[in-house]
Amino acid sequence: MSIVDQTREGDVLVLTINNPPVNAFSPGVPEGLHAGLDAAEQGEDIKAVVIIGGGRTFIAGADIKTFDLPREQAPDLRGFIARLDAFPKPTVAAIHGTALGGGLEVALACNYRVATKDARLGLPEVKLGVLPGAGGTQRLPRVVGAQKALEMMLSGNPIGATEAKELGLVDEIVEGDLRAGAVAFARAHADERPLPRISERQVQDASPELFAAARESVKKTHRGQLSPSLIIDLAELAATKPFQEGWDAEARLFVQAKDSPQSRSLRHIFFAEREAGKIPGLTKDTPTTEIKSAGIIGAGTMGGGIAMNFLNVGIPVTIVETSQEALDRGLSVIRRNYENSAKKGRLSLEDVEKRMGLLTPTLDMNALSDADIIIEAVFENMDVKKDIFGRLDQIAKPGAILATNTSTLDVNEIASVTSRPEQVIGLHFFSPANVMKLLEIVRADKTSDSVLATCLNLARRIGKVGVVVGVCDGFVGNRMVHRYGDEARKLVEEGARPQDADAAMNALGLPMGPFQMTDMAGLDIGHAIRQHQAKVRGQPKPDGWLDRIVETGRKGQKTGAGIYDYDENRKPKPNADVQQLIDDYRAEKGVQPRDISQEELTERLVYSLVNEGAKILEEGIAQRAGDIDVIYIYGYGFPAYRGGPMQYADEMGLQNVAASLENYGQTPAPLLKQLADEGKTFAQWDREKGRG
Ligand code: NAD
Repeated sequence: MSIVDQTREGDVLVLTINNPPVNAFSPGVPEGLHAGLDAAEQGEDIKAVVIIGGGRTFIAGADIKTFDLPREQAPDLRGFIARLDAFPKPTVAAIHGTALGGGLEVALACNYRVATKDARLGLPEVKLGVLPGAGGTQRLPRVVGAQKALEMMLSGNPIGATEAKELGLVDEIVEGDLRAGAVAFARAHADERPLPRISERQVQDASPELFAAARESVKKTHRGQLSPSLIIDLAELAATKPFQEGWDAEARLFVQAKDSPQSRSLRHIFFAEREAGKIPGLTKDTPTTEIKSAGIIGAGTMGGGIAMNFLNVGIPVTIVETSQEALDRGLSVIRRNYENSAKKGRLSLEDVEKRMGLLTPTLDMNALSDADIIIEAVFENMDVKKDIFGRLDQIAKPGAILATNTSTLDVNEIASVTSRPEQVIGLHFFSPANVMKLLEIVRADKTSDSVLATCLNLARRIGKVGVVVGVCDGFVGNRMVHRYGDEARKLVEEGARPQDADAAMNALGLPMGPFQMTDMAGLDIGHAIRQHQAKVRGQPKPDGWLDRIVETGRKGQKTGAGIYDYDENRKPKPNADVQQLIDDYRAEKGVQPRDISQEELTERLVYSLVNEGAKILEEGIAQRAGDIDVIYIYGYGFPAYRGGPMQYADEMGLQNVAASLENYGQTPAPLLKQLADEGKTFAQWDREKGRG
């Protein structure tokens, strides 16, 4: 089997692409397709060509790994597409699985498209900060209209074959064998002339208002991003200029988007997310167990949300509480969440009942004796957790995984009270646990490979991005966010207003800045952690300006007042008393407030994350800088187009980051300093370690 097989079906030549797993347009594919077109051109008895994917899909896209190759080494998709468009004999794309990106662009350059009913078609380039660069921006609007094309290209989401047929993007849905159907279709249209070419059509629904509205709308949906606005410019060219002009502009703008830090960052995250699942020492042969039932202890904020993840994928859950009242409250929150989804049409009422039916509430921990995994989500208190794990050791069946959702406590210490520490692991969900995609999988000293591998599989199954981290205070995400919170408070102490610090992070693309985030989490939580840590370290009771705010009873969004005031829409509004308290605090400490620029706010906040991240890498708490970035994107709202804090630092240049930290009176972490001195990046460090 060659990368593109040529087979004759009478007077039709079928070109089958065999480039598993997804028939990406990698080196070798265009050469094979060109050879196929050569054969079709030369074969006088060949009347039509069918292009089809071998295996499970049509072409699912360009090969992202080739994006950064020098032009002469990268597969020439545009060259092939130009030839296909001008080809003198009819061409048919036969689509199953997905036709995405470059795959759909190939299909659009054929004269006809047929598809199976379950095929999906889309241009997802925007998700990688680029744009369809091989005619997609020019051809799609000519078929489905500018409005629909913009919707598809700006969301990046594919549409199903039935909708594609209604839109004219697909000419025929093939029931039964696709290849046979496509050949029959090709034969039926073999003599039709002129050949229908999308490049010769006109966009039907264009108006200046349509593009103006799209530009307005991406300001909200894609704030600060480059490629969406380039896509709109190109769709407008498709509507207003000859094909060739748009086609040429597309090539230029594609390179501009591809070479932007935003696209580099989005591609970094795309690969980092895939890498995160790879753990040195774990192989395909590492034994795993199938999770068929789960137990959860605690039906509070986290326990309820965690339970929903399992119920959503059909895994029955037994949930344990200490009182009937707490149990009832927990269950009613779960039910309300499901019913709200049903109201929004995301779930049927039947599904709500089906999911609730998989949930067994109980006050008896012995009911967990059959569970394959038990996740503890009770108060953040070591004694309570140890007591529970001691009891679980008696109750749980051999081989059951015993997990804790602790955010800060030492998982080794929790494991030590059991006779089976190899079965103990941390599964750190983020709030709201049914929504947030991140799962920090905390590998304790004795956690077995099999338990770790099972939890990685489980994360995928419940739709989470699992990242393996080591044991330390706060693991990766919270440990870093604590340093960031410290820096934010310091900035206010020196003269910034809380809203200035938040605005700097909002401008970077984070939906919430440090103080908006603490107000949401509850000011009392951070306060309790600071008090606790000071006590443990034998330090005096913390008395920062924020501690004083909490002590006035302002606990954040949940009390309608924290650092900000909140109305019923939870919109934060600065409060004069809070500002006065901050002013008084500075006066008391003899601090002369100074103006702090947005640049300094941004650098000090983000670099506090980076510096702690570098320490975490050095200590081996995270395996890769890419893992840290994935944690920040999925757990803390860092915008993917900035790549996460470590990639952001790479883009800024580590020499600049280190110099800036020093300039602000901080000591760069040794690894950061070392990489800066060597002129390297975190991404290079990942690669040199063989982990990126
Ligand atoms: P919560 O107070 O909302 O819920 C805890 C629940 O556990 C309560 O309903 C309580 O009645 C129950 N409980 C206590 N002891 C029990 C026992 N012996 N048996 C059964 N149930 C018991 O707390 P939460 O916010 O859900 O936090 C739970 C855990 O998750 C903590 O370890 C916390 O650090 C961690 N966590 C919280 C968040 C968050 O944002 N809230 C995020 C990640 C992790």
